[in-house]
Amino acid sequence: MKKAIYPGSFDPLTLGHVDMIVRSSRIVDELVVGVLNNSAKNSLFSLAERVSMIKEMTNSIPNVTVTSFDGLLVEYMKEIDANIIIRGLRAVTDFEYELQIAQTNRVQNHDVETIFLTTSLQYSYLSSTIVKEFASYGGDISKFVPPEFIDRIYAKYDISK
Ligand code: ADP
Repeated sequence: MKKAIYPGSFDPLTLGHVDMIVRSSRIVDELVVGVLNNSAKNSLFSLAERVSMIKEMTNSIPNVTVTSFDGLLVEYMKEIDANIIIRGLRAVTDFEYELQIAQTNRVQNHDVETIFLTTSLQYSYLSSTIVKEFASYGGDISKFVPPEFIDRIYAKYDISK
C-alpha cells in the first residue's frame, strides 16, 4: 500500500494544487492532503475553511482524504502510517528549499521518501500568494482558483463582484 501525504498551507487552494492532487492520486494508493496548522503564518482562511474547501474539490476522488496537522511532518506521517511526501516543483527557485526539506525529513526518518512532481506548464507561475495579492486589488483570479472559491476569496477583502 503506497500511502502519501501532500502537505501545504493551501491558503487558498489553487488550480495548481488541484492539478497536483489529481496527478498524485493516480500514482499512489492513498493520498492524504495535509493542511498545515501554522500559527506563525497569518493565514487568510482558517484551518477549518481550508480543509473544507479542499474536501469540496476532492470528494469525487475516492483515494483522497483531507486532514490537518501541526508540528513535524515526519511525526504526523508515523501517526497516519504514510511514508511518501508529495511536493510540487514550479521553478528553480523552489528547488533549493525543497531539496533541503526533503533531505532533512529523510535524516529524521529513513523510511520517508519525497516525490516531486513538476508543475503543469499552465500553472507554473501560480501560487497562493499571487492569488491573494491579485484578489486584494480586485484583480481577476478566475484563471487561478476553482470558480466556487472566487467570491469567498474576494469576500475576505470586502470586495463584492
Ligand atoms: P507551502 O506553504 O508548504 O509552500 P503551499 O500551499 O504553497 O505550501 O504549496 C503546497 C505544495 O504545492 C508545495 O509543494 C508547492 O510547491 C506546491 N505547489 C504550489 N503551487 C503549485 C503549482 N502552481 N503547481 C504545482 N505545485 C504547486
